Amino acid sequence: MSKQLFSFEFFPPQTPEGVTKLAATRMQLVPLKPEFFSVTFGAGGSTQDRTLETIRQIKAEGYNAAPHLSCVGSTRENIRAMLNAYKNMGINRIVALRGDLPSGMASIGEFQYANELVEFIRAETGDHFHIEVAAYPEVHPQAKSAQDDLANFARKVKAGADSAITQYFYNADAYFNFVEAVRKLGVSAPVVPGIMPILKFSQLARFSDNCGAEIPRWMRKTMEGYGDDTESIRAFGLDVVTRLCEQLLAGGAPGLHFYTLNQPALSVEIWNRLKLK
Ligand SMILES: Cc1cc2nc3c(=O)[nH]c(=O)nc-3n(C[C@H](O)[C@H](O)[C@H](O)COP(=O)(O)OP(=O)(O)OC[C@H]3O[C@@H](n4cnc5c(N)ncnc54)[C@H](O)[C@@H]3O)c2cc1C
Repeated sequence: MSKQLFSFEFFPPQTPEGVTKLAATRMQLVPLKPEFFSVTFGAGGSTQDRTLETIRQIKAEGYNAAPHLSCVGSTRENIRAMLNAYKNMGINRIVALRGDLPSGMASIGEFQYANELVEFIRAETGDHFHIEVAAYPEVHPQAKSAQDDLANFARKVKAGADSAITQYFYNADAYFNFVEAVRKLGVSAPVVPGIMPILKFSQLARFSDNCGAEIPRWMRKTMEGYGDDTESIRAFGLDVVTRLCEQLLAGGAPGLHFYTLNQPALSVEIWNRLKLK
């Protein structure tokens, strides 16, 4: 079996305090020797400079950094400029996304779907970047059907993506079923599960409603039942997510990508419980 790859995702901080806090978060995750740290990008370019700056800091500290790049609302010229900036910084991995048009932004720009962005990155930069794309084991909320979403995913990989990271989910079968289905479509790229540790139920419920990731009823009911007892929610979340990771790795997942929300503690705790090296 090839080496399992682990990575951690951050969002770009908005304040100087946030920058300091994120640097401290990184220091706690560095000993886990992840393959890379990724940094999200606000669709429509809303965090463009902060994403670039965070990537620059991670790189300057000597770690592998992977910027997310979303194309919705953007032009070829703008994407080209960002690719060049990242290339010049010595970045060689990128998470290529469509993104979601921010409300109030009228034009979708020159790219409609992520497969067009992947094609563009390959055409502009050849094999320079390792390209990651997004995958949705529980089906992207705007997809016409599960089958359509799979076909679109396969098209995106065939456009030149090297691997994929999934939206988070709490049902291992959704992941295994997705991987099996894309293999049948001839996609052999690794699909790394995205893992969302559970900190606050209300926050998780909000995220999940937006992105179509299901919180199974038994989990939702249990967390609702804990009310304001954040300690119990934390303990429950750690047990459930650790068990999910165990199932995924035992079932052949090629690694794990943690959505840290810029907080290291839960990811580190899950890591330790999994006894990963
Ligand atoms: C790992 C990961 C990281 C993310 N990081 C960010 C981030 O940093 N910033 C951000 O804004 N968002 C981020 N997102 C969210 C993502 O941008 C949204 O989920 C967005 O709605 C879809 O982006 P995509 O790249 O998956 O789009 P696409 O692959 O383009 O798919 C979008 C929808 O269109 C359909 N579709 C795709 N191609 C076609 C086609 N050719 N014809 C017709 N229909 C098609 C798909 O089935 C799907 O329903 C991330 C998601 C994941 C899983």
